[in-house]
Amino acid sequence: MLVDLRSDTVTRPAEAMRRAMAEAEVGDEQHGEDPTVRRLEEMTADLLGKEAGLFLPSGTMCNEIAFLVHCRQGDEIINDYTGHAVTNEGGGPALLAGAMIRTVHGHNGVFTAEQLRGALRPKSRYAPISRAVVIEQTANYGGGTVWPLRTIREVCAVAHEHGLIAHMDGARLMNAVVASGVSAREQCATLDTAWLDMTKGLGAPIGAVLCGPAAFIEEAW
Ligand SMILES: *Cc1c(COP(=O)(O)O)cnc(C)c1O
Repeated sequence: MLVDLRSDTVTRPAEAMRRAMAEAEVGDEQHGEDPTVRRLEEMTADLLGKEAGLFLPSGTMCNEIAFLVHCRQGDEIINDYTGHAVTNEGGGPALLAGAMIRTVHGHNGVFTAEQLRGALRPKSRYAPISRAVVIEQTANYGGGTVWPLRTIREVCAVAHEHGLIAHMDGARLMNAVVASGVSAREQCATLDTAWLDMTKGLGAPIGAVLCGPAAFIEEAW
């Protein structure tokens, strides 16, 4: 048997997944009446320890919609220079949220609280407002590097100390859970918003779930 290792996105729905899709109980999602979508959103929110979840067609949409809700035009998002939102979202943060990204040079996609501190703008009438920071778990272009729990906590602490929103691109968060033995809930505890991809190694053809406070999810919808 051949194993295709080009990407974990080449995984395909198994027989059982196709059957579950075909037989899923459905309803009008606009009225919050699709029990299967609701269950997926609730399960994911619970897994990440957040109040609410929102099913979206892609992880890219999770990032971009989160930035849209979190930022005003001209705001600055801090991200590692290898971050997916920097390299693989078609300039989406600039196009959609009108936000700029200030990159930090972490080690294999993981940066420190000190590096975040160094990237923050001093409050000034002239400077863009540092609004949000992105932690990518695992760091895709860092070779799948796992952010240690301590680093996550330290980065979030500096972010919150300065009024920034801490957002996790958790496309492969569950890989980090397996590798570190630290639950998704614990890893996300200090994050304001976080999401999980269903298409990375899990076989689903589309989909990701964005999670956070209920008011945030309401606005994101
Ligand atoms: C794949 C990926 C995304 C985007 O997810 P899609 O579902 O493909 O849009 C975002 N961030 C990271 C780290 C990814 O690997």
